[in-house]
Amino acid sequence: MATPSCEIIRVSGLCEREAKVDFEYNAKTLEHKEKLESFMEQNVYPAEQEHHAFVEDPANMWQQPPVVEELKAKAQEAGIWNWFLPAEYAEWSPGFTNLEFAPLAEVMGRVPWSFEVFNCSAPDRGNMEVLAKYGTPEQQDQWLRPLMEGRIRSTYGMTEPQVASSDATNMELQIDRDGDHYVLNGRKWWSSNIYHPLCEFVITMGVSNPDNPRHQRHSMVIVPKDTPGLEIVRPLSVFGNFHSPAGHGELAYHDVRVPIDNIILGEGRGFEIAQGRLGPGRFQYAMTNVGMAQRMLDLMCTRAEQREAFGNKLRDFSSVRQDIARARCSIEQARLLVLKAAAEMDKSGAKGARDYISMVKIVGPKLAHDVAERAMQIFGGKGVSGDTPIAEMYVTGRLMRIADGPDEVHMNQLAKLTMAQAEIARQEGRGGVTWYGD
Ligand SMILES: Cc1cc2nc3c(=O)[nH]c(=O)nc-3n(C[C@H](O)[C@H](O)[C@H](O)COP(=O)(O)OP(=O)(O)OC[C@H]3O[C@@H](n4cnc5c(N)ncnc54)[C@H](O)[C@@H]3O)c2cc1C
Repeated sequence: MATPSCEIIRVSGLCEREAKVDFEYNAKTLEHKEKLESFMEQNVYPAEQEHHAFVEDPANMWQQPPVVEELKAKAQEAGIWNWFLPAEYAEWSPGFTNLEFAPLAEVMGRVPWSFEVFNCSAPDRGNMEVLAKYGTPEQQDQWLRPLMEGRIRSTYGMTEPQVASSDATNMELQIDRDGDHYVLNGRKWWSSNIYHPLCEFVITMGVSNPDNPRHQRHSMVIVPKDTPGLEIVRPLSVFGNFHSPAGHGELAYHDVRVPIDNIILGEGRGFEIAQGRLGPGRFQYAMTNVGMAQRMLDLMCTRAEQREAFGNKLRDFSSVRQDIARARCSIEQARLLVLKAAAEMDKSGAKGARDYISMVKIVGPKLAHDVAERAMQIFGGKGVSGDTPIAEMYVTGRLMRIADGPDEVHMNQLAKLTMAQAEIARQEGRGGVTWYGD
């Protein structure tokens, strides 16, 4: 049998890593967490109602809530800005390791829109990663710098309506070289952020070299949003909500011309970039999910304490207690897993930690979705209304089980890696991977 190609870092038994796990947050994390929590208490939680009322009002469609810009200025002044890029991004990074940033992402996750306040929001986060890692100095000056200053925002255009886009090699949008330009023709959809008034460009993936091997056919190019031929066809709704002001657009590219300098990394490198984009930004989603779930648990406990039905406080019903207890267990399990994934990323890089990245992508959104289910039930009618963040978090947890790559794709990847690790243990005669009967 062929040796599995999976790279093993260090395993004991089968696939359990011998990682040293320190449960204490270090002094740097604690100091920044306190600062962030105090900012949230003073500025973000008090603004939630205003933010909600603004984005839900159809008269404000596609407009930035003024409170977000006010809070961005305050956050920048307080130095709570761009914390998400890990230390290896050198000049672009504030220097946190993944493990140091994870608890901070959890705090931001308690109010998902606050990521924009701290300039740590998707899809800019992933686009900043791409430009910091692969962009030319000119691309960084023109696009990355204003992104990092929070002056502009961006879109990531990979998914296409006519093909299964969980497989990035399926993308069909054509990128043809014509002298000093590339000419783009095709369709995209679910291009998040395209309606945002600050959005200025789309990192677009398409086929530039159709005759290359499958993983080297695609490229990524920067397409300014105002380029002639780039049509925003329509906004897509998510459970009936357009997610203003960011929105999710369907786009049509009709002979869209961009200078060849707008290509990122080079022709045929698109798949490699798409893979590279799955590092820190993606793992940070999972910590957001933990933050969302913890917020909902806190709300559940408060409601159970305050509300009475049939002569009892809700907290006295055993079903409510079970919901609270189960939510607490799930949150703590997920939190520890995400911290371990962060530690593995710091030690082995995104590639070495890909099994852990798959694990947190499977666990994180499901956690938020499941805890929201319980929280909604405890809140009754209020739980499905817009009067608490729960309904929105329920939708976010659900959509993340698709938007960040379908659950099944992460499970396939994780099962493949796990089986390969087991095969190595078998070949090396380790771990008691034998049975008696044969
Ligand atoms: C709210 C939202 C925001 C988004 N934002 C963006 C964005 O900004 N930019 C962007 O490019 N895309 C974005 N997406 C798109 C998202 O990345 C895709 O929807 C996702 O990758 C799945 O692709 P698909 O929709 O074509 O589903 P398909 O690839 O058609 O998959 C459909 C289903 O098939 C099954 N399936 C697929 N592969 C496997 C497998 N290997 N094993 C088992 N079952 C499988 C799964 O059940 C899966 O859900 C967003 C999506 C949503 C919902």
